[in-house]
Parts: sequence; structure tokens; C-alpha cells
Amino acid sequence: MIQVSWPVIFYVPLALNLLVVSLIGLFYFIRRYEPHVRYANERIYRCAACGHVYVDSRKMPLLRCPRCDSLNEAVRTH
Ligand SMILES: [Zn+2]
Repeated sequence: MIQVSWPVIFYVPLALNLLVVSLIGLFYFIRRYEPHVRYANERIYRCAACGHVYVDSRKMPLLRCPRCDSLNEAVRTH
């Protein structure tokens, strides 16, 4: 028989619960924070000719549509 003291039985599941909760909290915090960082240096382009939507991180005022090759302006997202 394994000798386990009562504080260990009580505190280990509690510590594991706290760890899981804090990991989930951290995961959601990163998920919530990430899109702001990503959209900050990405531009969304919507093709006026074919309606194709594409994203590019380069700071280009005009970018060619990968589908029909017509030039389009970046859509303002903010
Ligand atoms: Zn197009």
C-alpha cells in the first residue's frame, strides 16, 4: 500500500485544477491578443473585377489580384 498523506491528496488535484485553469486562461488571452497583432501589418484587398478577397502583409497601395490580374486598392479595415 502506498502511503499518501492527506494534504497531498487534497492539494495535488487542487494544484492541477489551478494549472489547467491558468493554461486555459493563457490560451484564450493569446488567442484574443493575436488577431490585433496579425491584422496590424496585413492588408485586405477585394478585387473590383472578380470579387476575390486576398490578404497581403506588404505595404503596397495597389496589389494585383491573384485570380484575374487586375490592380486593386487595399480595403480600410479600421
Ligand atoms: Zn480579381
